[in-house]
Amino acid sequence: MPQFTIKKVVQCSGVGLHSGKMVDLTLRPAEVDSGINFFINSAQGDRRIALAPDRVVATGLATTIGTDGASISTVEHLLATVRGLGIDNLRIETKGSELPIMDGSAAPFVLLFKNAGIKAQPAQRRVWRVKKAFSHAQGDKFIQAEPYAGFQVDYSIDFAHPLIGTQRLCLDLDREGFNQVAKARTFGFLREVEALYARGLALGGSLDNSVVLDEHGVVNPEGLRCPDEFVRHKILDFIGDMAMLDLPLQGKFTVRCSGHALNNQFLRLLYENRAIYLERAELAEKERTHAPAQRRRALHLPRPLEHRVPA
Ligand SMILES: [Zn+2]
Repeated sequence: MPQFTIKKVVQCSGVGLHSGKMVDLTLRPAEVDSGINFFINSAQGDRRIALAPDRVVATGLATTIGTDGASISTVEHLLATVRGLGIDNLRIETKGSELPIMDGSAAPFVLLFKNAGIKAQPAQRRVWRVKKAFSHAQGDKFIQAEPYAGFQVDYSIDFAHPLIGTQRLCLDLDREGFNQVAKARTFGFLREVEALYARGLALGGSLDNSVVLDEHGVVNPEGLRCPDEFVRHKILDFIGDMAMLDLPLQGKFTVRCSGHALNNQFLRLLYENRAIYLERAELAEKERTHAPAQRRRALHLPRPLEHRVPA
């Protein structure tokens, strides 16, 4: 399996979720073994941020990474797209302090990569592979990693809301699997959104880039893109949050009711203890990133779902 980058430079702009201001984003091809790097163009010059779990400096509202006084917010949907499309090397440039929220999903970024084109590079893909089971829990929230040839996520959520309730989905992160979650939008509850506005946060948030729920249902006039859009978006966020390593991560992940904060705590612990739980591997020519033979179809369980605690 070779490494991949994009064929040509592409750009887009859109509103930032935090500031409500227009922000620009430029994606450029990058050299073999250079990985995914952010370049923030500020008054102090260019600041490079390479991916690492401890570069995550905030997880409220969205995932923010930073270094040396420069930071960039709302990186998770773009990074999920990078991993979902199997991009190994990429230069991500922005002048603002956040990425555009676009429509709250990864679909506009998928389109951007389609415009850029994707090309193989003359080097083998390298990954971090889970070699020993590891789990991390906080109250009801839980993440478990197990060895697996590919990236599989089995995610369940449980919200006390008539439209959400318990939702569960299991998928493999190949193109088909990523398609299942790419269009799922960010969601929030009206009472929380009002509280955020009052604090001067989420100024770019609107019904154009998030699903907003009141006590009874969806406020957005167009409704949901699919009934389980919520768990699909949670998987998208999880893929993006697990992308904060210098190499793509391989493993089977069972996740219950997690969020950006727990995702990052989990990844930090996994990476800090990498001597025990992870191994670096180079994917051989015939080895696929994903394991189609083991792929399980999307799993929709009737509500209510009993919480299965993985063995
Ligand atoms: Zn998200």
